[in-house]
Amino acid sequence: MNPPLTPAQVLHTAAWIATQQEESGAIPWHVGGHLDPWDHVQAAMGLSAAGFHAQAERAYAWSASAQLPDGSWAAKYVDGEAVDHYLDANFTAYIATGVWHHWLVTGSSEFVEELWSTVDAAIDAVLPLQRADGAFVWTPGEPDALVTGNASIAFSLRCAVGLSDVVGESRPEWEAAAERVAAALADPSLFEPKPHSMDWYYPLLGAPWSQVDADRRIEQGWDTFVVPGRGVRCVTPNTWVTGAETCELVLALAANGRPDEAAQVFADMQHLREADGSYWTGLEYASEQRWPDERTTWTAGSVILAYDALYGISEGSNLFAGAGLGVRDAVLAWSAYPPPQEIAPVPLPPALAEVAARTKGFLPDDEADALRAVVAAHVRPGGTVVEIGTYCGKSAIHLGHVVREAGATLVTLDHHRGSEEQQVGWEYHDAELVDPRVGAMDTLPFARQALFEAGLEEVVVPVVGRSTTISAFWATPLDAVFIDGGHTEEAAQNDYDGWAGHVREGGVLVIHDVFPDPADGGQAPFHIYERALADGFTEILHVGSLRALRR
Ligand code: SAH
Ligand code: MG
Repeated sequence: MNPPLTPAQVLHTAAWIATQQEESGAIPWHVGGHLDPWDHVQAAMGLSAAGFHAQAERAYAWSASAQLPDGSWAAKYVDGEAVDHYLDANFTAYIATGVWHHWLVTGSSEFVEELWSTVDAAIDAVLPLQRADGAFVWTPGEPDALVTGNASIAFSLRCAVGLSDVVGESRPEWEAAAERVAAALADPSLFEPKPHSMDWYYPLLGAPWSQVDADRRIEQGWDTFVVPGRGVRCVTPNTWVTGAETCELVLALAANGRPDEAAQVFADMQHLREADGSYWTGLEYASEQRWPDERTTWTAGSVILAYDALYGISEGSNLFAGAGLGVRDAVLAWSAYPPPQEIAPVPLPPALAEVAARTKGFLPDDEADALRAVVAAHVRPGGTVVEIGTYCGKSAIHLGHVVREAGATLVTLDHHRGSEEQQVGWEYHDAELVDPRVGAMDTLPFARQALFEAGLEEVVVPVVGRSTTISAFWATPLDAVFIDGGHTEEAAQNDYDGWAGHVREGGVLVIHDVFPDPADGGQAPFHIYERALADGFTEILHVGSLRALRR
């Protein structure tokens, strides 16, 4: 599909924003209108993306000059004067998103240095508004938290951490706050319910969703909010589409692997465009009325950002896909939406790591890190963990360390004759693992050797046999089950049938080799993962092909 706008038209839109900017650098909603600090930043981001860097920098200079001594801004200004004096947490935090975006676009570390104290003070003004459950109240003294504001704050915090790296400062408390708000967003009960489309798509912006989760989320609100040929409704039940919301959905779709729908939705909102490059805020489509009767700088800014995300006109085009925000530790990478429960990294001692590293197996390091952490978060003293698929004992070493630390036991089972794909002539066959006396694979001696060298024989119990044979007489409730056995549909379904039900309430089911896209791998583990979701398990962690679900 061809872009619905030419690059020249995009510049025209940026130029229109510039005509609305005040002498001071402030960008009100429109000439003569009021300013709020969030929309001011959104309009500045549009200017940056379109190459109007000087104008954008003047806008940020205004933000710096208007910042209050406590690091916040007033909620509303007219002609440079504050008229609404309360602190809006999301408005205040958004400066970090804007400055990070301008850094992506320009690569100017001088600019970041200049704005650093502004960002630093703004984030420090916001952090005290985080509740014990991780959600931010929207303003001091109010108990309520809002989904959209919190999703935006979560992203701003990540941008702020990115900026701290640029200036060489360390702000671990920002990272911790970012993780806690991301965790809080997993629990809808913590937030005031709202009928707005923003609460649907905003959490998809700038957060590391997996494709399946993102797809699920997108489908959930699509029919309610998307009006073909028009754009996105702002709020149900109103028959009212708005340009900025539509463009934010475009950003969310583009950031989450749905570029075609993003392009379509973007084309659908162009009826809001005027000849001077400006955009109406919205349209009441049942009556075909422009509403409200105004064209706004933040709508125009959102249009430019959406165009950039789709057609790549600046270095900041992947902002909301998290560009440049290297995930600093596994905990943030796992999922934007783990539950509030703490999942802390559990390092493997170097001696064990050395044995694990030279043990044959199929577990990348990042997945092993995730496996240890999520099992450690669920295993209790005296508890039992089951692994299906010992192979040569690699994952058993990782799990063995965790159960030993917890005072628990790991039962690792395998018939040790190898899965289908490991047999002679198949992709994963390893000739060294064949026992010449029987002419078949035997991985048991390798597993025993590894567990011996790791010093884990006291806490890891290898059981030799078929998964179904053993599950048939199993009765002990389990803190954790790790399914990493056969990958045929039958084997995977049997593992689920035989073991998922033994996970205790609050325990965790971990499934390896889950590939939602058939191009990446066999579908059987994905199918049992879907079954677990359908059975009421909650996904709490996702790294690579590893998925953890809590019962
Ligand atoms: N967890 C291991 C890799 C396991 S490979 C690691 O990370 O290092 C899969 C293993 O599952 C193979 O050793 C195979 O023998 C075993 N397996 C396959 N089907 C099985 C079944 N039905 N019962 C028991 N073990 C099975
Ligand atoms: Mg595996």
